[in-house]
Amino acid sequence: MDIDEPEIHENSDEDMAVGPSSNKKDDKEHNFWKNNSNEIKANPERFGIEESSMELLRVFYNRFFPYKTYCYWLNYNNIEMNKSFQNREFNFVKPGNEEVYIRYLSFDTIEEFKNEVLRVCPKKIDIGAVFTAKPKEKKSLKLSALKPVEKELVFDIDMDDYDEFRTCCSGATICEKCWQLIAVAIKILSAALREDFGFKHLLWVYSGRRGVHCWVCDERARKLNDDERKSIASYLGVIKGGAQQTKKVHLYKNSIHPSINRAHKIIEKYFEQVILEDQEVLKDKQEWTKVLDCIPDDNVRHRLNDNWSDNPSKHSIEKWDNLLEELNSSAKTTKNQKKADSLQICKIEIMLQYLYPRLDEAVSTKMNHLLKSPFCVHPITGRVCVPIILEECENFNPMTVPTISSLYNEINDYDRRNVKNDRERNLHDYEKTSLRPYIKYFEKFIQNVLKETLAKNRALNQTSMEF
Ligand SMILES: [Zn+2]
Repeated sequence: MDIDEPEIHENSDEDMAVGPSSNKKDDKEHNFWKNNSNEIKANPERFGIEESSMELLRVFYNRFFPYKTYCYWLNYNNIEMNKSFQNREFNFVKPGNEEVYIRYLSFDTIEEFKNEVLRVCPKKIDIGAVFTAKPKEKKSLKLSALKPVEKELVFDIDMDDYDEFRTCCSGATICEKCWQLIAVAIKILSAALREDFGFKHLLWVYSGRRGVHCWVCDERARKLNDDERKSIASYLGVIKGGAQQTKKVHLYKNSIHPSINRAHKIIEKYFEQVILEDQEVLKDKQEWTKVLDCIPDDNVRHRLNDNWSDNPSKHSIEKWDNLLEELNSSAKTTKNQKKADSLQICKIEIMLQYLYPRLDEAVSTKMNHLLKSPFCVHPITGRVCVPIILEECENFNPMTVPTISSLYNEINDYDRRNVKNDRERNLHDYEKTSLRPYIKYFEKFIQNVLKETLAKNRALNQTSMEF
């Protein structure tokens, strides 16, 4: 879970709460709110440093946030606002260094939502469940009258969970190499959600720093209860145990689930490049020991360890070939069938251990869990939480995602260059900037979701007219 994600807050009487003070990891990073003065071109002396970040955020909410499409999404209808939107809980985190949450917010119209966003200028927006009543009326309602009834099925994949073997970066940093760990996870999870559960509408969103969220928007997914969410999360949770657990995947040769076989096929395409080449997980003893610990045979482990210790210049790819040869020959020579099976399956277990999605199950299992909203701005990096085009997730580069500062500069540059044209063409502000492809993709995604609701409503009307 992202460190800045609040826990669920069922039965809390506090509508406003101060969260934990800033995480130590954050302190080491470039903090967008404290230190971005050199990223501002216009009037740097006019604002204090923190005020300038606030000003940029205000510009973002004023000129770029896609209010209409966003609200239609959560309304699952673009005709009139209904309970899906009006009974939806939002959580705003107030601007400033402290984490002050404004909880149980809800809005009746797009305008009301927009006005409140512009008034508060939240440094983060979280989306919660749809309730049986309006969350903003919580104080006048009996607790039992406010029950969560609907929420997208959500998944959270965070780079933190790959840190035990990630060698290119550590902590909050991320690069194109380690992004591929996330990209493979996106591919595997999307295939499982589509093929095993029949879900169609998967919105993948960059969390603004080193993770991604998946919002499954199908009606069937939104109506899942907590037990059903738990079952799905557990079905998809193949990696078991934290950093202390050496072997995290356990398979049985004659009963490998088709979902695991499919994941393995996807992983086979990327393992050499991402794990052996980019992360070099067999480079030195400290790293290769983690791999060898997954092998269920002392002799194989020792032989490989000796071989690699004697040949320090061997590349990870060559070492992986040694490992495969050892597993094969040992499986062939042993008379113990069970042992032979476990040696043969070991290769797949290791590959899954490194590239199968590492899910934060707690995020997926409760309908009433708040999750950071798409298109809000990451409070540390200033990057916009943009959607990721599933088919192009390998090429997504988190380092080039627009920030509120880059957008501010882009729009000013555009306005300076195109005063006349602008009026003629009447473009939206986002269309003049690098935010364009992300919002266009979001609009197309939402159109597809809404089309389905429309078709369903039409069918319902048809049926009711027949009676
Ligand atoms: Zn990296």
